[in-house]
Amino acid sequence: MKFSYKILLWMIVVMALALGFSGYYLVNYVFETSLSREVGQALDESSILGFAFETAALNVPSKYTVLPDSTVEEIASRLETGGQSARRMLRISDEEKNVLYVSDGFTAGEDLLGQLGVDIKAHEVIASGDKYYIHTGTSVNALGRVLYLETMRDVSVVFQERAVGFSLYRRVTLVMLLAGTIIMHFISSLLTKPIRLLTRATKRMAAGDYSYRARQISRDELGQLTRDFNRMAKALKKNIEKLEEEIEAREEFMGAFAHELKTPLTAIIGYADMLRSHKLDEEKSFLSANYIYTEGKRLEAMSFRLLDIIVTGKNKADMQKILTADIFLYLQEMFAGTREMDFTFTCEPGEVLAEINLIKTVLVNLIDNACKASEPGGSIEIEGRVTEAGYAFSVRDHGIGIPEKEQRKITKAFYMVDKSRARSKNGAGLGLALCAEILKIHHSELQIESRAGEGSCFRFVLPDCTKGGAAEKAVPDPQEGQGRQGEQDQDGDKT
Ligand code: ADP
Repeated sequence: MKFSYKILLWMIVVMALALGFSGYYLVNYVFETSLSREVGQALDESSILGFAFETAALNVPSKYTVLPDSTVEEIASRLETGGQSARRMLRISDEEKNVLYVSDGFTAGEDLLGQLGVDIKAHEVIASGDKYYIHTGTSVNALGRVLYLETMRDVSVVFQERAVGFSLYRRVTLVMLLAGTIIMHFISSLLTKPIRLLTRATKRMAAGDYSYRARQISRDELGQLTRDFNRMAKALKKNIEKLEEEIEAREEFMGAFAHELKTPLTAIIGYADMLRSHKLDEEKSFLSANYIYTEGKRLEAMSFRLLDIIVTGKNKADMQKILTADIFLYLQEMFAGTREMDFTFTCEPGEVLAEINLIKTVLVNLIDNACKASEPGGSIEIEGRVTEAGYAFSVRDHGIGIPEKEQRKITKAFYMVDKSRARSKNGAGLGLALCAEILKIHHSELQIESRAGEGSCFRFVLPDCTKGGAAEKAVPDPQEGQGRQGEQDQDGDKT
């Protein structure tokens, strides 16, 4: 059963009970009031009749010392008419409760008579046929005798009025219930509208429409529920989009990975087949074996790099305070004299919160990329500066640069702008993906500024522990790291 119908049903039950009880109480109250007024009048009448009887008895001739039964009947008959057109109904009994006079139609039983005594009055409401009466009884002292006078007063009207009241009230109740049901139907459907809107929203979401939002039409608890539901739907949509992006990225990754494996494996299999099926001269055999070795090494390096990315993504960084001068010293020692490049190292004193080996990996990758993108002898500036946002590291080259539309993609695994150039320099498109993962766990990100043909600048910021204060550590002379340095490492190993 619908919730609004349940509310409606309960409202009708409550309203019917309330109307029923209040109607019964009201009609009965009016009836009781009328009846007690009638009882009062009947008792008054009984007293007046008793007094009239006693007065009439005083006029009895003086020869009687005791009121004779015949006189009792005479007085009773006179009181019965009492000068009125409607006859009174009365009964007079003697001391032994023997009836001396009774009006026509006096149908009351003798129970009340039995209860009467000297100065004892009583009354009761009795039904006779389809009529109701108030039956009263009182004692009368008349000329040496104690007599009992009973009257019957017709109060059927009061009972009829009660019956009419009940029937009228039943009709009023029915009409009110009908009108109330219509009004309450509107009220209950208005009250449950937010629930209907929420149900519609959940159905739309279950059908895959995650951008659908429930309309908020009230500010009460249901309005709050709608707000919370919409908030939950928003979070859900965000998570689903994130999941979809991750799935897409994983699929792209798998595709690129398969492609990256295919090329070297085809060559390795081809050369290995040639070695086993042909008798080659010494030089060709060496060349074939060497190709198999170098491609195998490349695959090995790629699998290590992949492992790095996966492990880095899953682990938390072991953050420590590091003097930036230490990092620069390491970089200078690593690159000085190993490349035909013009390196400039500039390090402002600072202290960052990071995992030192991971940050060294990032910088080595960036410097290695800068070398690969530059002509031999090109200048590469590696800088560390204290800024408002934190300690900023940057690696700038003046090499081939990266077209704007490619800049967004180069941090994706296996992405290479110029594949043949990258492969010729032993690249696999994994270095920047690893950098991005490392920076992510340091709550930082890689910023890229580049122009095709003009060069690139890769930059990232780490929290500066000294807030610009001097880290008391000697900074190596930047000039020491400058200069043309040896042969470029063709092996491509970055760490
Ligand atoms: P790779 O192993 O190929 O160097 P990376 O993930 O480090 O992989 O770089 C992805 C691609 O981004 C490179 O193949 C290259 O095309 C481009 N790239 C990276 N750094 C630079 C740079 N400093 N100048 C120009 N292109 C760059």
